[in-house]
Amino acid sequence: MSPERGGPGDDLLRLPKAELHVHLDGSLRPETMLELARGRGIVLPAKDAAGLENAMRVREAASLEEYLERFTVTLSLMQDAEAIERIAQELVVDHAAEGVRYLEVRFCPSLATEGELSSPEVVEAVLAGLDRGGAECGVVTRLIVCALRNVAAPHSLRMAELAVAYRGRGVCAFDLAGAEAGHPVHDHAEALALVQQAGLPVTLHAGEAFGPDSIREALDIGRASRIGHGTRLIEDEALLARVRNAGIVLEVCLTSNVQTRAAASYASHPLRRYFDEGVRVSLCTDNRLMSGVTLTSEYGCARDELGFSLAELTRIARTGFEAAFVAQDVRARLLDQFDAAVSR
Ligand SMILES: [Zn+2]
Repeated sequence: MSPERGGPGDDLLRLPKAELHVHLDGSLRPETMLELARGRGIVLPAKDAAGLENAMRVREAASLEEYLERFTVTLSLMQDAEAIERIAQELVVDHAAEGVRYLEVRFCPSLATEGELSSPEVVEAVLAGLDRGGAECGVVTRLIVCALRNVAAPHSLRMAELAVAYRGRGVCAFDLAGAEAGHPVHDHAEALALVQQAGLPVTLHAGEAFGPDSIREALDIGRASRIGHGTRLIEDEALLARVRNAGIVLEVCLTSNVQTRAAASYASHPLRRYFDEGVRVSLCTDNRLMSGVTLTSEYGCARDELGFSLAELTRIARTGFEAAFVAQDVRARLLDQFDAAVSR
């Protein structure tokens, strides 16, 4: 996928960026999918890269559920360590090519245990790929372990235990992903208590397919310091003020939100309002394959559709590094490098 997609221009490509919200199983290269499928006897919805890219891409007016259906295809290719490691490594390389210096990839390990692997082996394979890509490209990488909110609580507790076990060994945080409506945060209170007790940071998908109550629970029960999306925070002024005053960072995914109808259009996306009101925001891709985006093209959308200046986008990029789930010395180094690069 070309970083130039959407024509965001060299200044946005050169801007050092942090990617805080990208799903491993939503960000495969179509060419790699074809190769993996050939070697594994798996039939894909198209026979060439362009056809596959088109088939996997979610168009406007899809529901979140329809969006999530595409993942059964990618996950069918992610059931062995070699495939997972390759996909993770390539994701780092693709991000590096568009100026990303810090990358947090998220994934639910139990989704890759249909074959030979256990959940810890899946984590090891993802980390091996991230390490390899990071070393090749000079990108600092971390893994966020997701649990699926639409699966019963014993699952989220197992994922929380796994995240804690790999804390400091590449896993930086815990997340609840999957279908949000009808699957509230409080269903997973036990898992969240476990990660809080261990001092592992929490970011939760909230306010995407469900309203402000979901965001409130993410803060009250999840103690989330970042929120995935937060698109519907706009519906509750008091909660918006709370998020701003607490310095909670929103991981905003513009194209994904338009595709799942969390936002009616780019122009009406609340990102502009959040930024103007002092809410800390970062820009993220969510799923490079399903959304047909790069991080640079998402910055381009913010500029072209919502009127963000380069100075404003530079501030948003810096917020991404500030919000990184890393040790203080690593964050300080990333911020020093960022400041040096943008002052040139
Ligand atoms: Zn997401």
